[in-house]
Amino acid sequence: MGKEPKSQVKKAQKNVKTCTFSTVEGMADILPKDQDWWKLVWQLGYATSELHDFNFIETPLIEEAGMFEETAGVAKEFVEKHLFLLKTGEKEKIALSFCPKISVLRSYLEHRLAYFASPLKVFYILPVLKKIRMKEGNLRESHEWGFQIIGEGDPIYDGEIILAVSDFLKGLKLKQPMLKINSGGCRVCRPAFRQKIKTYYRNERERLCKTCERNLETNVFALLHCEETKCKELMAEAPIILDYLCQNCNNHFKSVLELVEDNDIAYEPDSHLLPVNDYGMRTTFECYVPELPFPIASGCRFDYLAEAFGARVTPSVNGTLNIERVIEAMKLQGLAPHPKMKPKVFFVVLGDQAKKGALRLMNKLRSSGVAVVEVVGKKTLKAQLKSAERMNISLALLLGQKEVFEGTVIVRDMTSGAQETILAEKIVEEVKKRMNK
Ligand SMILES: [Zn+2]
Ligand SMILES: [Zn+2]
Repeated sequence: MGKEPKSQVKKAQKNVKTCTFSTVEGMADILPKDQDWWKLVWQLGYATSELHDFNFIETPLIEEAGMFEETAGVAKEFVEKHLFLLKTGEKEKIALSFCPKISVLRSYLEHRLAYFASPLKVFYILPVLKKIRMKEGNLRESHEWGFQIIGEGDPIYDGEIILAVSDFLKGLKLKQPMLKINSGGCRVCRPAFRQKIKTYYRNERERLCKTCERNLETNVFALLHCEETKCKELMAEAPIILDYLCQNCNNHFKSVLELVEDNDIAYEPDSHLLPVNDYGMRTTFECYVPELPFPIASGCRFDYLAEAFGARVTPSVNGTLNIERVIEAMKLQGLAPHPKMKPKVFFVVLGDQAKKGALRLMNKLRSSGVAVVEVVGKKTLKAQLKSAERMNISLALLLGQKEVFEGTVIVRDMTSGAQETILAEKIVEEVKKRMNK
């Protein structure tokens, strides 16, 4: 598509008054210039969800703050610090959407969705809002495309989640996606490992960063996520959970890896990938591309989470794509968004009296599935045709006072400039005939 001539851009800038308000730090507008990227993710996401038999669910932007705080367990400090709390003046304590998979489980239990399907397979597109410290590239609001299966603990469902995420990334044509995967164990085997790793870090206490020293006694697995160089060095030597898994966890992990291999998904085990929350168990995974240092997708099993809702252990597994990161990865890999473009026609309207009739004809075309573009305003014929050229539209329709009076429309081939007059009542068939040429 052609660029706006410089003089026009300048003129437009001059006409815009300075805006008093701007986006809050860490928040971003999704602008029309990026619509092709988002449209592509949306279209592919819906197609993938349907292919893999996931049903749509949406939970509200606002939830009880306690739901996120009480489910956090050992990660309570982290959650309290990063939760966006809302002041309403009432006694209620509410927060913005922080972790959609928790909201989805809440919905499952609240509406007894187990009666609807077992297991329940759902997908969602939800914003995640975190009050994080601002660093370059960090956003306080990001969007998650999530897949969640609730009600079955069989490893095949961990596999189904990984496959849905992997197919989604493949569909976007992302190059060299790498799955990193581990098992976080369960309540039977994890305590022994936790003790072991605590002992290891206690012996190295003086080499830890301040945050890690604070987390050591309360949430030791968080140390494995620390970005500080000296902590990373220690991490390389730390004990690994695979040596401590119980028989059930071992079998579960093996089955998941077999499913991953059977489906030709490139993966590497990552022994330091562990759930930082108490409710996480067994499968934990992340997906990377070579161009980005952080994961573009991730997921885990979290059967214990339901207990925080007063329910019994309920098998749940989830996988999510971080849409902003996925789009960033695609841009870095030089991929282009190719949403299906429908051919369009450009409607040129001349004079006030033609406007009413033009709207009726445009609507007739749109109702029959023809996309119509117009820049009616008060522009001249020349300016309107220029716009059509800039948009690379090959067919234009012209309607002036004379045509309205005669019940006709002029069709203009934008490539050759050839024009002919058609009857307004035959507009749909005449346009379709020309578009299919
Ligand atoms: Zn276990
Ligand atoms: Zn550290």
